[in-house]
Amino acid sequence: MHQSETRKGNITLMVQAEQIPVETESCVGVGDHDAEIDRALLVADGHGPNHRGYGHIMQFSAEHHEFRSVVRDFVENEINPRIPEWEDAEMMPLHDIFSKMGSLGFLGLEYETEFGGQGADHAFTVILGEEFGRCDHGSLPMALGVQVDMATPSLARFGTPEQKRRYLAPALAGTQVCSIAVSEPDAGSDVAGIRTRAVRDGDEWVINGSKMWITNSLQADWLCLLARTSDEGGYHGMSQIIVPTDAPGFSVSRKLDKLGMRASDTGLLSFDDCRVPVANTIGEIGRGFQQQMAQFVVERMWASYTTVGACEVALTRTADYLRQRQAFGQPLLANQHLQYTLAELSADLDLLRTYNYAIAEAYDRGEDTTRQATIAKLTAGRLVRRVADMCLQYHGGMGYVEENWTARFFRDNRLTSVGGGADEVMLQVLARTDGFTA
Ligand SMILES: Cc1cc2nc3c(=O)[nH]c(=O)nc-3n(C[C@H](O)[C@H](O)[C@H](O)COP(=O)(O)OP(=O)(O)OC[C@H]3O[C@@H](n4cnc5c(N)ncnc54)[C@H](O)[C@@H]3O)c2cc1C
Repeated sequence: MHQSETRKGNITLMVQAEQIPVETESCVGVGDHDAEIDRALLVADGHGPNHRGYGHIMQFSAEHHEFRSVVRDFVENEINPRIPEWEDAEMMPLHDIFSKMGSLGFLGLEYETEFGGQGADHAFTVILGEEFGRCDHGSLPMALGVQVDMATPSLARFGTPEQKRRYLAPALAGTQVCSIAVSEPDAGSDVAGIRTRAVRDGDEWVINGSKMWITNSLQADWLCLLARTSDEGGYHGMSQIIVPTDAPGFSVSRKLDKLGMRASDTGLLSFDDCRVPVANTIGEIGRGFQQQMAQFVVERMWASYTTVGACEVALTRTADYLRQRQAFGQPLLANQHLQYTLAELSADLDLLRTYNYAIAEAYDRGEDTTRQATIAKLTAGRLVRRVADMCLQYHGGMGYVEENWTARFFRDNRLTSVGGGADEVMLQVLARTDGFTA
C-alpha cells in the first residue's frame, strides 16, 4: 500500500493512495479537468506528482500531521496578514510574535520540558521549518531560526541549569529574543579570523570588539557571542558567552539597510569594555569554536527546511499565474517549455525535501549530520535562486513590480547562498570532509 502526500484545502496529509479522491487539490503542472483525472489515476497507481513516497523515509504520525496543520493555519491567519505592515516598518515586533508562538509550543520543540521545551522529535522541527518557509516573506522564518536553531542549541546542550533558567526558558517562552553573534566586519566566512576579545577580570569578562550582520539584534535581550578568550590563534581559544543586551558597554552602532529580508532587523554591534559574568560562559572556556561549529549544523538544516516550503509555494503560485495568463491565444502554461521548467524545478525540490528527511532521521538517531547539512544548505541556496529567477521571469513585467510577491521572494531568498556560510564555504567544508584536498 502506498503512502502519498496530498494537499486538501490548507492541510497537508499523508493518506493511503487508495483513499485519494479525484478532487484532490492540484499541485504544480496540473491544468484542465482531463489532466486532473489522469493525474488522479496516476496517483491511485502510486505514481504521478502526488506520489512522493516520503513515508518510506520519514514516518510522520497523526500528531505530526496535526502539528503541520496548526502551524499552517497560524502562518496563514496570524502571520501573513501582518507581513505588509512589518515590511513597511522594516521591523517585526518579535516579542509579541514569539510570545504567541511560545504559548503554542513552537519555540522549544526539541528542548527539555524542564525549561519549557516540548521534548519532541526532530520531525516537528522539519515541519515547523517547511511551514514557516511558506510565509509571505523570508524575514520571520530567519528570525525564528535564529531563536530556536542558531542562538539556543549550545545553551541547551552545554549550559548550566542556572543559565537555562535565566536565558533558555524565556527564549522558549518567547518573552526574550536572542541573537547569534559570530560574524564581524572583517571575518564572516573565516570564523577563525574573529577578533572580538573577552579578557578575564576577576569574575567578569571584559569584552571589546564588534559584530556585524546580527539578526534580531535591535530587539534582542541577549546574544550568544563567540569571542576570543585567550591568545591562542586560529580555531583555538574561543568561547561562547551569553551577553545580555543591557550589559554596560554594549550598544547597537547601527541598523543595516539590506537588499532583502527587510522586515528583519540586522545590526552592527559594539562592545566597549562590556562586562558580563564569567558564569555566562556556555560550556567549556576555550571550546567555543567547536561548540559553534555544531550549532552551525542545525542552522544549515533549518535553512534547507524553510527553503522547501518557500519553493513549494513559489512553484504553485507561478503555475497558477501561468494557467490564467493568456498569450498567443492560450494560457502561458500551455507552453511546453514553461511546463518542463516547472517540472524540473519541482523534481529538484522533491530531491531536496527527501534529502532533508533523510538528514532529519539521521539527526534523530544521534548521528553527525555535518556533511549532509552542508550539502542541503548548498543545494537549497542554489535551488531557491533558480526558483526565484524563474518565477520572476515567467511573471514578465508583473514579476518585477513590488506589488507582486515575486520581487520580495527574489530579494529575500538570495540570502540563502550567502548567510549562514556562503555556497563556497559549504564547498570548502565538503571538499575537506570528502577528502578533495591536496
Ligand atoms: C541578512 C544577513 C543576516 C545575517 N545574520 C547573521 C547573524 O545573525 N549572526 C552572524 O553571526 N552572522 C550573520 N550574517 C553573516 C553571514 O553569515 C556572513 O555574511 C557570511 O558568513 C559571509 O561572510 P562575509 O559577509 O564576511 O563574506 P566574506 O567572508 O567576505 O566572503 C565574501 C564572498 O567570498 C566568497 N568566499 C568566501 N570564502 C571563500 C572560500 N573559502 N573560497 C571561495 N570563495 C569564498 C563567497 O562568495 C563569499 O560570499 C548575516 C548576513 C546577512 C547578509
